[in-house]
Amino acid sequence: MTQDAIRIDSLKKTYADGKEALKGVDLTVPAGSIFGFLGPNGAGKSTLINILAGLVVKTSGQVKIWGWDQDENPRQSRAAIGVMPQELNLDPFFSPFGALEVQAGLYGVPKSQRRSDEILEMVGLADKRDAYARTMSGGMRRRLLLAKALVHSPQVLVLDEPTAGVDIELRQMLWENVRKLNRDTGLTIILTTHYLEEAEEMCDEIAIINHGQKVAQDSTANMLGQMDAKTLVIVPESDINTLPDAAGIQAEQRDDGTIALNYRARETSAETVLEAVRSAGIRIRDVRTEQAALEDVFLALTSSAK
Ligand code: ADP
Ligand code: MG
Repeated sequence: MTQDAIRIDSLKKTYADGKEALKGVDLTVPAGSIFGFLGPNGAGKSTLINILAGLVVKTSGQVKIWGWDQDENPRQSRAAIGVMPQELNLDPFFSPFGALEVQAGLYGVPKSQRRSDEILEMVGLADKRDAYARTMSGGMRRRLLLAKALVHSPQVLVLDEPTAGVDIELRQMLWENVRKLNRDTGLTIILTTHYLEEAEEMCDEIAIINHGQKVAQDSTANMLGQMDAKTLVIVPESDINTLPDAAGIQAEQRDDGTIALNYRARETSAETVLEAVRSAGIRIRDVRTEQAALEDVFLALTSSAK
């Protein structure tokens, strides 16, 4: 057991064409967590995932998977991780069972230790065990990719945009599978997404990446707590003597004479804040709101991800 399932230090990737996809990322993923890796298209999520998977060669920096350094212990670090890729790259000539057996062979899993049928059962493909790939729907193919990522019993499972372009039913099914895996086996799960709600619902902890740099990392609860922070700015009609005072509101006078009222939108309504202002005998000339810095970051990130 290790404390961190993944530990990344100063990770950089510059592609051959000069594109700097990762500009020095530090990241730790706690063992046993469901970890969300968020950011808009082009942020560098897949590049990072593919480096973890050993599919893209990093330019510099250190990557440890389950305590194994990727450069010093390439075989062990690769065995510790399973990746469900973003693209549906399945060989059309294999049945689901065949595909899992081939994958197990690639990872050197001995026949006696293979769990192909158990895994097919788990992802709801037992009845498609010997089906032709071409008879399978997009949803089934995606579940088969999930199954393939599990054949060598990795400690860390990575899902790259598992629900992009997927219908609601399949999305629910994938999430149930992921939650169950995490709950029953303690598997550490990392998923990338550009859907904020998805991360909110699924993840214990979230990191946000933009333009190849990590811009935030925290528990989901803290992240939401910060996003919930609101500031109402009052321009008073005349000079004031007392600041508004009420539970859930933190007031301060700024150098420009305005009054900033900080509160949490989930606990305190804007009306309650305005009421406190009036109770302090302050007449309002103008009012505006400010968003929390993190919310600005989030909006900037997610608005370009449509
Ligand atoms: P994300 O998964 O967050 O959408 P990617 O990691 O796929 O982001 O891409 C990050 C940046 O690197 C993008 O600007 C993308 O165009 C670029 N990129 C990705 N793969 C390659 C590649 N093989 N060669 C050159 N640039 C690439
Ligand atoms: Mg991607």
